[in-house]
Parts: sequence; structure tokens; C-alpha cells
Amino acid sequence: MANPSYAQSLRLIKFYNEAEREILQECNRLLLASINGNILGPGDYSSARMQQIRKDLLEGSRTWVQEAIPYSYMKGVDLADTSLPPENESIADFGEIHQKTAEALGKSTYSRLMDVISVVDRRVDDIFRKLELENTKSAVLGDQKEAQVAAKIKDDLAENGITGFVDKAGNTWDMGRYAEVLAQESTMQSFREGITNRLQEKAQDLVFIPAHSGSCKKCAEFEGKMYSLSGNDEKYPPLSEAIDGGMFHVNCTHYVEAYRKTAE
Ligand SMILES: [Zn+2]
Repeated sequence: MANPSYAQSLRLIKFYNEAEREILQECNRLLLASINGNILGPGDYSSARMQQIRKDLLEGSRTWVQEAIPYSYMKGVDLADTSLPPENESIADFGEIHQKTAEALGKSTYSRLMDVISVVDRRVDDIFRKLELENTKSAVLGDQKEAQVAAKIKDDLAENGITGFVDKAGNTWDMGRYAEVLAQESTMQSFREGITNRLQEKAQDLVFIPAHSGSCKKCAEFEGKMYSLSGNDEKYPPLSEAIDGGMFHVNCTHYVEAYRKTAE
């Protein structure tokens, strides 16, 4: 099964890709002015357009999180309900737990998006500062070096986009591409937490991992196997064992379902 929040994910990806395109356009406008030998003034570097793009990004990110995260979580609760044996009864009132989990997931997703926006901010600032410095030097020295510097930055942006994330290995991700990872990861995580919370609410400890076509090689070994949510089962290993083994990695669309005897 694909990510049940695929349509939600696509919205964020499209939104971030469009924002990236607009930021690049705005950077290019200034870079081209430099390439064409125009001396820019200080006011050119904090354009109203760039401020607007940033404001839209903040607002759009907040709206997306408010909609997509609870939606994905509820999809998980619904899926758990369809897989639960009908005789299972609630062991406790999970109302507050559902609400708090969805809220916590929303907060962490939002802060990861804010991290992307601040990396983008820094990148744009760096470009403009560099350009401003080169322009100032050119004005004093009377050379045309700012055009070369601007052309180099412009080529780099065209090739690599605007950096939105730097991973532990030092690889840079452009903001559109990284939004894909974030959208997929955060919606799948919410979906999975919705499932496990509902299963725990209904005293369902044993789960299995349904197989799906086109499974990643990493996950194939876990498919169809049974696990215990609590880790207290005598016969089956804790689910954390599969997770530690690489299950639920980035772009993974696996999840757990209640184990029912008929599923064997
Ligand atoms: Zn997987």
C-alpha cells in the first residue's frame, strides 16, 4: 500500500517546489543585474517580494501541518479499526493520548519545516551579502569582478537549487527535494502512530507487517512477520527489533496491522 496521505504529501511538495522556484527567480533578478554591470544599492537586497515568499512559506507550512498530520493520524486509527478483531475492548480512554500524540507530531513536523526555512534564509542572505560586498568592491576598484561572481552563483543555483537541508554526511538537499522527504516521513509516522495507539487502546499487542508489492529490499525480510508492540510477548520479538533493523526507514510505506488468527 502506498502512503495513505500521498495527496497531502504532494501538496507540500508542490508548495515547496513553487516557493523554491520563486526564490530562485528573485535571486536571479538580482544576479542578472550584477552580471549586466548594474551597481545595486542596499535596498535591493531585502526585496518586498522575498519577504512575501517567506511569509507565504511560514503560513503555508503551518496550515499544511494542521491539516495533514491529524488527517494521517486518523487514517491510522481507521486502519487499525478495520484490522482489529471485533471482540477486543478498549482498556482505557485514549481520547487524550490521541489528541496529544497528534499535537506532538504536528509540532515536531512544523519545527522541521521551520528549520528548512531558516536554512533557506541563510543561503539567500549569504548570496546577497556576497553580491553586496562584490558590488561595493567593484565600485571602489572600478573592476567588473562582481559580474563574474554573480555568474558563478547563478550557475550554481541553476544546477543545485536552494539548499534547504544539510544531512549528517554533509550532503546538501535542495528545499523542494527535501520537502518530499519531510512530507513522506511525517505523514507516514503520524499514520503509524495512529495505528499503534489505537491497537494499544484496544489491548491488541500482537501485530504483523503486511507485505506490499514493490517492497524495498531492506524491509522484505520483515514482511509477514509477527511482533509484539509491548515487547512482553514470550513467543514474538518486540516491534522495536524490526525498527532497529531498518524498518520504517525514509520513504518506507510499511506499517503494522493487528494480528488476527484468520490472517495466518
Ligand atoms: Zn518498507
